[in-house]
Amino acid sequence: MNRRSFMTAAAASAFAPALFTARATAEAAINYDAIAALRSGLNENTSQVMSTASYMMDVLGPRLSGSPGIRKSADWVVGKMKEWGLTDATLEPWPTDPTGTNNGFPRGWANRKFYLAAITPNAFPITGMSVSWTPGTKGLVSGECVLVTELDEKVLKEKYAGKLRGKWILGQTPTVMRAQWDPVAKRYTKEDLDALEIPARPPETGTPPATPPSPPNLQAVAQANARNAWFFSEGVLGVFATNKGHGAVNVQGGVRTDLPDQQIPRINIEAEHYGRIARSVQLGQPVVIEADIQNDWFDNPEMFNVVGEIRGTELPSEVVIIGGHFDSWHAATGATDNGGPCAIALEAMRLLKANKTPLKRTVRVCLWNGEEQGLIGSRLYVAQHFGGGRGVPAPGNARGNIVPIKREHSRFQAYFNLDNGAGSIRGIYAQSNAAVAPIFRSWMEPVRDLGMTHVSPRNTGSTDHISFDNAGLPGFQFIQDPLEYEPKTHHTNLDFFEALQPEDMRRNSVLLATFAMLASNHPGKLPRKSRPPAETPPASPTPSQGP
Ligand SMILES: [Zn+2]
Repeated sequence: MNRRSFMTAAAASAFAPALFTARATAEAAINYDAIAALRSGLNENTSQVMSTASYMMDVLGPRLSGSPGIRKSADWVVGKMKEWGLTDATLEPWPTDPTGTNNGFPRGWANRKFYLAAITPNAFPITGMSVSWTPGTKGLVSGECVLVTELDEKVLKEKYAGKLRGKWILGQTPTVMRAQWDPVAKRYTKEDLDALEIPARPPETGTPPATPPSPPNLQAVAQANARNAWFFSEGVLGVFATNKGHGAVNVQGGVRTDLPDQQIPRINIEAEHYGRIARSVQLGQPVVIEADIQNDWFDNPEMFNVVGEIRGTELPSEVVIIGGHFDSWHAATGATDNGGPCAIALEAMRLLKANKTPLKRTVRVCLWNGEEQGLIGSRLYVAQHFGGGRGVPAPGNARGNIVPIKREHSRFQAYFNLDNGAGSIRGIYAQSNAAVAPIFRSWMEPVRDLGMTHVSPRNTGSTDHISFDNAGLPGFQFIQDPLEYEPKTHHTNLDFFEALQPEDMRRNSVLLATFAMLASNHPGKLPRKSRPPAETPPASPTPSQGP
């Protein structure tokens, strides 16, 4: 062990009282030998991150919350964690929901078969996928397409009542697409990262103009749902929607409380196929589409988070958590969102265990379920283990009441989340916790050569660290190169293993293991924000994604 390792705060302060700062203390506790050992994770011959990712994505497949697929994947991950010698590797069930709605998942869903093709005037296969929690077809069906872009119920009834039975609905105008002028994949430049280090600030003088709160768009969702309900009552075969383009189609979920046999099939298809069909219809050429789509439903699916840990040697009841969400959408295998990052977190644990990395505090990996439906798994876990956040649903309050702070709240060290695709970690968001920034800077110093160089003071949102932040616990998300995430893979049919860059994956596993170790061995508790943050709403409570 390096002589500088584990120097206590008291020793450091006796050595150089004038320099006894948060950063100096943190630096004194850095175990350089252990970091050097963790760097074995950069070796492509010994790293297991890509083989873990391949098995998860290629063999086990998508991990939609509440589906049999996520259960199968989770069982495999638990087996792997046991094989690596982690402690208490298990599926931890979500706490019981007293309102009887299974914490928002009264039904699980999975697509079993998807056949969709145009048969006249020309035959061609159509790329697409059912919106989850919507039904398939009643066996092999076929019908003509009708372009119905009207939203207003009165107009719809006047124009189409009685005319849509047995028809497919094209529910929107075709996407007007531009060429992909900008590179699809992107890494952050030094200038991009420098800009993230500057806090967002108001104008120099005067009162900034009031910005209306971003629209909850509930009206549009309600209108789309009402329209779909009317289409159902008119006996249509199904509704097609589209988005993105350039081969990518975003497919998310419908209303999980809607009964299977009381709604229409909703299918998102590739923009180029949608455009071809819609333009043919506009030209007066009837297009007949054939489909055989089988979607399965499962009452009250088992809901759980996946956990495993390495017990700390000195302060085992104090905990550092690393992780990300385990659930994915279902049109691909969810490689960048968020299977690849799960493989990174698992590899970080394997590296810590295999290298016998000294750990004072317990390091736990938590892979969350139900993130895509509004950070549900992490929120329930935080409420149950630490308190301070919202717990299980209460009557009239689906997001639950605030749970009182528990004793474990004070024993918590930090949570580090990965969920912005699988691009290389370039820094970390301090989440408005100014006191933690110098500590993170000192932790990045030994790994600067791996490209992790910046601490942004800003908040970043929309994923599971928010469940910790909302409970007054230090929860952080890394700054990562975006790669192809937004234009191509995020929630799309193209989110496959190919989108994972092996070198980025290996670097990230070393960086995550390093941060977990340094947090575990830090001389004291990481500073917390002085005031509890205003609660941030969950990321994507997507009740429905429109037409
Ligand atoms: Zn995600």
